[in-house]
Amino acid sequence: MTSPTVFQYRAGQLHAEDVPLSALAETAGTPFYCYSSGMIEGAYGAVVEALSGLPATVCYALKANSNLAVVRSLAKLGAGADVVSEGEMRVALAAGVPADKIVFAGVGKTREEMASGLRAGILQFNVESLPEMEALSEVAQSLGTQAPTAIRVNPDVDALTHEKISTGRAENKFGIDLAHMPGAVRRAMELPGISLQGLAVHIGSQLTDLAPYGVAFERLAGLYRDLLGQGIPLRRLDFGGGLGISYREETAPDLAAYAALVRQAAADLPAGLIFEPGRFLVGNAGVLITRVLYVKQGAARRFLIVDAAMNDLIRPSMYDAWHRIIPVAAPAPGAGEEPVDIVGPICESADTFAKQRLLPPVTAGELLAICSTGAYGAVMSSTYNSRRLAPEIMVRGKDHAIVRARPDYAALLADAPLPDWLKDDRAPTATRGVA
Ligand SMILES: *Cc1c(COP(=O)(O)O)cnc(C)c1O
Repeated sequence: MTSPTVFQYRAGQLHAEDVPLSALAETAGTPFYCYSSGMIEGAYGAVVEALSGLPATVCYALKANSNLAVVRSLAKLGAGADVVSEGEMRVALAAGVPADKIVFAGVGKTREEMASGLRAGILQFNVESLPEMEALSEVAQSLGTQAPTAIRVNPDVDALTHEKISTGRAENKFGIDLAHMPGAVRRAMELPGISLQGLAVHIGSQLTDLAPYGVAFERLAGLYRDLLGQGIPLRRLDFGGGLGISYREETAPDLAAYAALVRQAAADLPAGLIFEPGRFLVGNAGVLITRVLYVKQGAARRFLIVDAAMNDLIRPSMYDAWHRIIPVAAPAPGAGEEPVDIVGPICESADTFAKQRLLPPVTAGELLAICSTGAYGAVMSSTYNSRRLAPEIMVRGKDHAIVRARPDYAALLADAPLPDWLKDDRAPTATRGVA
């Protein structure tokens, strides 16, 4: 299972598998992300095992972490891919995911993206509106083909998760409302470029309570049965992703119980089943390592100012997410704890990783690990404040490899040509400026 035990103290130093994180900090500099390939593989294996006996394809949702080495690790185990952009589709293909295991999701696919998916020969497009379905039909026709299509249903279920990652309620932008499904199915059957093959749901992310899944799966299966009764036998049901992980005290949903809900809803149906876990496969397999730059004693609070910032990891600012933060050097036994705010260097109060967190005494120069950052971490990073993206390192046993390098400063200027009217002899360019 995906307990965070892969990151453990040994001889007083936090390790990723068999590699001391302090050694990686010496060579790669900070901040950096570190992923455990063993943990990713373990989480994938657990999902596959729970679903064993079902005609299941596990399509890893790349948006959680689309690092090529991460996707490749899963592809080598047989995973398919759930992609939401042409970029993600290209990463999945480059990682060796077979095209016929790629599902293309998302409410706003462009015609170019549709064409690229059709040319690649992907398994299916999950469409989320009638206008999108019409566009897909036109694009497919223009290429002399039909688009394998599933309709994403909005089952109007509250996933009981953070508002910004809840996607299955009627007021959310996702999917086609149940009430509109008969018309949508009719339209799909009429459109010459659409080959209707399935139904899909995805009700949200970081679900820790399984009950909403039960309701959504039953609604989806009910719809499938209705269509079967009307002589429309669809080939596939896609149950989406959303399985939560333990960041703090939450218990990750029990995979066996999840699989039982799937079996209850769909085991008797003549349909292939698709699952799209993202966070569950990678979330606890990553840490963000950062160095304390300064310890600042304010009038009311003590601040640890670290060299990672909200541009590297936006989840605390964006979702009020709680991440475990621990020192990389094991605290002395019996060391007391004191409340600190752990903040980045960016000039926004939102650039805060934790408030009034109890930590053993930490001094400037020490390393901290921000845990459970393998999902929606590096992929959501930006260069805000003209900061370079943090590198990513993958560990496997005693081995490690940089799987995304820290860009050099020239890269920040490389794609920003000046218009002629702003050029003069002293204009700074990538080749001038600081050497
Ligand atoms: C985001 C997303 C996923 C993955 O969600 P997780 O919570 O990371 O498992 C799966 N399917 C779709 C359609 C998504 O948008």
